[in-house]
Amino acid sequence: MFCSECGAQINDNAVVCTKCGVPVPGKKLAPAGVVAVPNHMVGAILTTLFCCLIGGIIAIVYASQVNTKLALGDIEGAKSASRTAQGWIIANLIVGLLGGLIYVICIGAAAAL
Ligand SMILES: [Zn+2]
Repeated sequence: MFCSECGAQINDNAVVCTKCGVPVPGKKLAPAGVVAVPNHMVGAILTTLFCCLIGGIIAIVYASQVNTKLALGDIEGAKSASRTAQGWIIANLIVGLLGGLIYVICIGAAAAL
């Protein structure tokens, strides 16, 4: 399938052209709310800032893939990226909490000296 606007080749499941963003004729954009896949972007950014930078960036990468895949009509891919992003956010929260705990223990130990 090719875009009627720019002539770019488009995925058959796509509802918009990935090059110019023009809606594909005959394909209806999913009404907002019907295909709701949480992208976890806020959680990914917060855990990057407060927990683990590397894991947070990985979570942001997956979170950003959710909307891209949704726009391409890849609902399953979007859900999969969403779950992966969530997994990294939870892992980051655990790392952040453990790091915070170790920090508090170290401060406590230093204060006790
Ligand atoms: Zn196009």
